[in-house]
Amino acid sequence: MEKQSTVLSEIRNNNIEYIRMELSDQYGIARSKTIPARHFKRKTAIGQNFSQLSYAVFDPHGEIVMGTGYLEEINCRDATCFPDLDTFAILPWVKNTARVILNPTYKGEAVIGSPREVCKRQYARLTDMGYSLMAAHEHEFYLETLDTKKPAFETYHFQSTIRSSFNLPFTQQIERDLFVAGVDIESIEVEYCPGQMEISYSPTFGIRAADNAHTYRTAIKEIARQHNYRATFMTKPDPKALVASGAHLNHSLWDADGKVSLFYDADAQYGLSKVGQHWMAGILEHAPAITLLSAPTINCLSRYQLNSWSPVNNTWGLDNRSCLLRAKVSDQNGTYVENRLPGAGGSPYLSLTGMIIAGMDGIERKLPLPEPVNGSAYDKKNLPSTGVKGIPNTMKGALDEFLKDKVIIEALGSEFIQVFVALKKHEMKCQEDAKAKGDVDWEKNYYSYL
Ligand code: GLU
Ligand code: MG
Repeated sequence: MEKQSTVLSEIRNNNIEYIRMELSDQYGIARSKTIPARHFKRKTAIGQNFSQLSYAVFDPHGEIVMGTGYLEEINCRDATCFPDLDTFAILPWVKNTARVILNPTYKGEAVIGSPREVCKRQYARLTDMGYSLMAAHEHEFYLETLDTKKPAFETYHFQSTIRSSFNLPFTQQIERDLFVAGVDIESIEVEYCPGQMEISYSPTFGIRAADNAHTYRTAIKEIARQHNYRATFMTKPDPKALVASGAHLNHSLWDADGKVSLFYDADAQYGLSKVGQHWMAGILEHAPAITLLSAPTINCLSRYQLNSWSPVNNTWGLDNRSCLLRAKVSDQNGTYVENRLPGAGGSPYLSLTGMIIAGMDGIERKLPLPEPVNGSAYDKKNLPSTGVKGIPNTMKGALDEFLKDKVIIEALGSEFIQVFVALKKHEMKCQEDAKAKGDVDWEKNYYSYL
């Protein structure tokens, strides 16, 4: 009640006229209904009806997919969605508008097929084990000019200052507006390719880490449009290119109260604590299976290529960019791990979910951390002699790895698996149909909305 009265006064004090009631779908696309602010209090009590289509049955192209369990199986009924008041945020880039993320329920139960709900459930398990997780995705994305469809800036010049100032009012608005919306930008830079950018933000605890990614992605897209650009988180807007957009997941494990960081131990091997080593070992053990949660599209999976700065095997290294896990060991509070598996075109809730399940299993089973890689992890001669597994880069390969990993499947539960697998099989079918028709632009068009 106290939270509700704070939110209601924020609405009044900031002249908020409209509230976006929002959900995140299987691909991280924000879907919402906008309501006049006068209805907000009532909707908080009775819930907002929302078609379950929104987070479950659409493919990346907006087509309906059968067999998810959320369509004719339940007479296409609505979910009743209650605002999570902790996610209330003012959106300065949309006039007099605020946003709240919804908790979907059906017949009084949380809808586990929704990526945010499945993530919350795994985070709760982590909390029960006595831990908390501080995390932030590090998104890369591409920007093209709306009218010309050409990259917002040309040439390959990583972090060039002159290139970075291509439109300061635009990049500075992103920083200012996102700060008000609760996402604290830490750095703005141009990435390697024409039109490719990287804007990163501070980590946070809990589900809020993925909520921030959700807020950020929508903000970037909308603010881009206001400046005559189109931003895309499609991992490889040019499917033939080598360089893709990652969404590396930087993270560290803390005690339950978020007071004591747990990855560092000055006396332990590599400066990494036992619990940190088990956590990392769990991620490496399940990496082939959680790839599909971290890169849930055909386009996203194609990112895993030799010499592309994306991982191709389940390796780790000390500050080694060519590995899947890059440990940045410094001191008690500064030590963290960069999980380089997630691609930009996936749901931040699902990449977080996969990593948490895998890490928890590593801790529970006290899995030993393999040898780190020195030198390039793309070069076989640098790899440990046993235990190295490749990362799947096709949908068929990733789906096979996913389905055979009992720990991951059991943790996710059958309701989520049904939705997720139906979508993946549908994508494969679309790809096959396009191939049969000789449609060479299918991939580019099918994922272009991401
Ligand atoms: N674009 C690379 C990727 O797909 C990452 C480049 C970098 O290290 O920032 O993961
Ligand atoms: Mg980068």
